[in-house]
Amino acid sequence: LVRRGHATPGMIRLSEIRLPFTLAEAPEAALRAAVCELLNLAPADIARVDVFKRSFDARKALPLAVYIVDVTLAEPERATALLARWAGHPQIQPRPDMTWRPVGQAPADLPLRPVVVGFGPCGIFAALVLAQMGFKPIVLERGKPVRERARDTWDLWRKRVLHAQSNVQFGEGGAGAFSDGKLYSQIKDPRHLGRKVLHELVKAGAPPEILYLAHPHIGTFKLVRVVENLRAQIIALGGEVRFGQCVTDINVVRQGAVGRQLRGLSVLDLATGQTTGLRADHVVLAPGHSARDTFVSLYERGVAMQAKPFAIGLRIEHPQGLIDRARWGRHAGHPLLGAADYKLVHHAANGRAVYSFCMCPGGTVLAATSEPGCVVTNGMSQYSRNERNANAGLVVGITPSDYPRDDAAFEAQLGRSYGVQALHPGYCHPLAGMVLQRQLESHAFVLGGRDYSAPGQLVGDFMAGKPSTQWGTVAPSYRPGVTLGDLHAALPGYAIAALREALPVFGRKIKGFDMHDAVLTGVETRSSSPLVISRNGQLQSLGTAGLYPAGEGAGYAGGILSAGVDGIEVGEAVARSLMK
Ligand code: FAD
Repeated sequence: LVRRGHATPGMIRLSEIRLPFTLAEAPEAALRAAVCELLNLAPADIARVDVFKRSFDARKALPLAVYIVDVTLAEPERATALLARWAGHPQIQPRPDMTWRPVGQAPADLPLRPVVVGFGPCGIFAALVLAQMGFKPIVLERGKPVRERARDTWDLWRKRVLHAQSNVQFGEGGAGAFSDGKLYSQIKDPRHLGRKVLHELVKAGAPPEILYLAHPHIGTFKLVRVVENLRAQIIALGGEVRFGQCVTDINVVRQGAVGRQLRGLSVLDLATGQTTGLRADHVVLAPGHSARDTFVSLYERGVAMQAKPFAIGLRIEHPQGLIDRARWGRHAGHPLLGAADYKLVHHAANGRAVYSFCMCPGGTVLAATSEPGCVVTNGMSQYSRNERNANAGLVVGITPSDYPRDDAAFEAQLGRSYGVQALHPGYCHPLAGMVLQRQLESHAFVLGGRDYSAPGQLVGDFMAGKPSTQWGTVAPSYRPGVTLGDLHAALPGYAIAALREALPVFGRKIKGFDMHDAVLTGVETRSSSPLVISRNGQLQSLGTAGLYPAGEGAGYAGGILSAGVDGIEVGEAVARSLMK
């Protein structure tokens, strides 16, 4: 329920309005009629009906379009009485006030500008709100502007050449720039900051329907232009975006008995190889989940962090038509319904949760490593989602108790061990999840043939426990290529067992999901950050004042929208501190 004072005066929100999906192209008249019936009003009583959300429900023979609408009354002052009359009705509510209001304005004599590290969705939105409040942030991004970055990224897919500082994970737009651009999230968002993110994306050129579709997405090409326009807006407001600038260290001074205050950053200019210091006492740290060198240097500087659970697995590909038929029945292929998606979960007998992750309808499987000698899968699509395959990660939940110990495994992956295990045998080192990711990714590189091909197997052979030698009816989309073989060695035994148990279960939910020829490629290891950088109620690093860990890499987001929302909250926290 919307709290008093947080509603939009004169407006009413109605939910669960169901219409035949074929009306979705021009639903206005049917929606007005449904609104009149629900509120028991005459057509003249209603000034406007705006669609807030639209989803499709395919459980019936004829799929239904399900709407949430916002109603403006011809006489807005009647809204209070109407809402009182319908109090307790599950479909009728006040419309919440979703407007974002700046927490303040930068003082004219600001001594030091705030700095934002990383220009992914989190850094973009932190910088944007800081710029909108007049704080003129400086953004430091290790990668390149998004168009140059796109060319570097293609080098891996087309020529098997990885650019370690400019790839699917690093560069303007962050990890989400080459993606499906899905824009939904399950985070609690009582301040409707997700709405602010969507509005800014539309202002920057995203398709307006992202504002009302239940499962909106932008697709990779459109994202490129949107990201450039957001950068232009930050610069027009006095901000600066510096590319090819990698933050390699933080500079701190002691404050009180146990605390520290951030005083600056060491920044490596990747073009010249020179490292210089940058004075800063407010830094948003939004480096994403793949900034492993940054995690190591922050850990060694004593920044508080812990290992956290994440998920590992494989990517699965099916013909998109199979998913459409399972979801939409005889209406599969209808242009209004588009390429169908899915979400699957299974709790395996060994206690592991198996679930679909980052499902990309009509898309391609993507080479997503940022480190040489590693293979990582992920997925992307264009706005049209019209490639022939559907793909999704099939991942298994893991926890710090699964991570390697800080001894030989650390030496092998990091070139050093911290000796923590010898002192505290039961302790999980903060970097241990990252070490596990690297172990799996470098092993996948070997299984793929050491040339950035991904190791792959057909589902039928994976279930039968025999290596694949020949493709079936599903052609893999991963570039630069897939090496057929046996994926059982690609993941720990518990994960393989859980996946083998889940596939037939998913096949009962989506007919054909466990088809023999569906393609599995590995490994899917960057489902979220392997660690969390702890922060306090003011969103600052525990024990390091002035450092604001944010976004997915710091453990506070899992996707484009939630990273943007966290960026806004952290940007606001920085602004509040600077206005004190
Ligand atoms: P990131 O986007 O990772 O951005 C971090 C930035 O920091 C990078 O640009 C990096 O270059 C920079 N950086 C790192 N270290 C340093 C340093 N030391 N100095 C300076 N700069 C640094 N999510 C969705 O919601 N929908 C999707 O459809 C979707 N598809 C995806 C597809 C792919 C292929 C990938 C890889 C991810 C996808 N995601 C998707 C996840 C989503 O992209 C991330 O959740 C999101 O980008 C996290 O945002 P972030 O800003 O926290 O971090």
